[in-house]
Amino acid sequence: MGFLRRIFGFWKRPPADPAVNPRRTRDLYALTPEGYIIAQDIACQYEFARDIARCPYCDGTLRIAAQLNRASQGLNELVCMCTACNRRTSLIFDVSNDVYQRWIASQMGDLYLRNYDGPARRPAR
Ligand SMILES: [Zn+2]
Repeated sequence: MGFLRRIFGFWKRPPADPAVNPRRTRDLYALTPEGYIIAQDIACQYEFARDIARCPYCDGTLRIAAQLNRASQGLNELVCMCTACNRRTSLIFDVSNDVYQRWIASQMGDLYLRNYDGPARRPAR
């Protein structure tokens, strides 16, 4: 048994990334009416900055320089620097939406504290 486990262990899937919400929906990265980017977990914000967002000045790729916790506004801001022109740009994510809040509540358990009183934002349609 230990022998088989060792052989088939190679095909075992790695544990799920705790920063990724397995229940992401098609609303991921949609914009709210205010222009905020819908986030549904922590990892998606870093993925967006690395893989999708481009510098608004020169279309270069971005590197995250800082994170501003704006949870009291239901937001999270990633301050990025362009790797080509070195200008600064901010990506502002909505974390008030129901998908994100359900996910973060399950991740945090007893530590979960809803710190935004406003209504959950939804994508603009
Ligand atoms: Zn640039």
